[in-house]
Amino acid sequence: MTRERVSWRDRYPDEVTCVRCLEVYDQMHLDRMLWCDPCRRRARERAAWYGWIGGLLFGVACAAYVWFGIRPTDLVTGGWVATLLAAVWIGQKVAREIVYGAMRFRNARAVEAVPPADSGAPSAEAGPSE
Ligand SMILES: [Zn+2]
Repeated sequence: MTRERVSWRDRYPDEVTCVRCLEVYDQMHLDRMLWCDPCRRRARERAAWYGWIGGLLFGVACAAYVWFGIRPTDLVTGGWVATLLAAVWIGQKVAREIVYGAMRFRNARAVEAVPPADSGAPSAEAGPSE
């Protein structure tokens, strides 16, 4: 029934090695880029961590701009704090997506850079054995 539905999964056997942790999984647990579920979760967590760093840096930059550039009066301090918190929050989300995208992109390049086993690196095993 599903024979006419061509999926990218058809190109792979049932057991596939995750390109990130090199563990072998059932292919249903890997996504299009051959990342397994735990690897994607770990990458997401790491990206979120870097995202908060990026967001805080962005917030600090905004705070510096507000402090030295705009020089707010004391009357609107609460408003500026709320604005900076919003800047950190938004910066965190943006940075997280950028970091995660960068992880995925670097991985894609690495996958393409590694040739199949039959093309390159001839003398690795067939060295001078005599
Ligand atoms: Zn993995």
